[in-house]
Amino acid sequence: MRTIGLIGGMSWQSSRLYYDRINAMVAERRGGASSAQVIINSLNFAPIAKMQAEGQWREAGAAMADAAQALERAGAQVVAIGANTMHKVAEQVKASVGIPLLHIGDVLVKELRSDARSRPLVLGTRYTMEDRFLTGHLEDRGIGAVTPVKADRDALHAIIYDELIKGIVTDKSRDVVRGMIERSGAQEADSVIFACTEIGMLFPPTEVGLPGYDTLELHAQALVDFSLG
Ligand code: GLU
Repeated sequence: MRTIGLIGGMSWQSSRLYYDRINAMVAERRGGASSAQVIINSLNFAPIAKMQAEGQWREAGAAMADAAQALERAGAQVVAIGANTMHKVAEQVKASVGIPLLHIGDVLVKELRSDARSRPLVLGTRYTMEDRFLTGHLEDRGIGAVTPVKADRDALHAIIYDELIKGIVTDKSRDVVRGMIERSGAQEADSVIFACTEIGMLFPPTEVGLPGYDTLELHAQALVDFSLG
């Protein structure tokens, strides 16, 4: 079994889901007393969220690179950024280590292609929905993503940072997110991507009325595939 290295804490709510899913998948596939060989470098999210909000991406990337290098030194054989947003600096992280970086966008492309999806609705933080690092990654590979309208993007961003990263899950927010998925029919979306690793805390991707893809679940699966090779 190869050792997984995960940069976590972004947020810790999603890191615990990564830890849970990675272990459950290894246990299911290997059976017996098997569990995952994983090192989590769980960071304090407060300074990172501040750097995001202030647009200090180079500095945030340096923090990610330090975290990745520490994982490599500790014996990780692959590194994953346990969040979509920080993939904005994925190239900086990738260049800082000798082990492979398992990019959340690559995992997503593979899955969308195998299901022949070409117009997914991308739900995530404002950075993920409005910058090009994930939607561009999809578009460069022939998958034309759509995003919610501005009012919905703002509402979702607030739900993620004010509630989900703190472990707060409310029916009101469930309804808000369901509403934006319903409205995506007007943009002819053929699927929905949970491109934020906390959105699955609201409801599973199987309950969105369209084919759903949870990046946390797919990323965890790809890491386990790598580990068990
Ligand atoms: N975990 C989230 C994501 O997947 C949001 C928190 C963050 O900004 O890292 O984008």
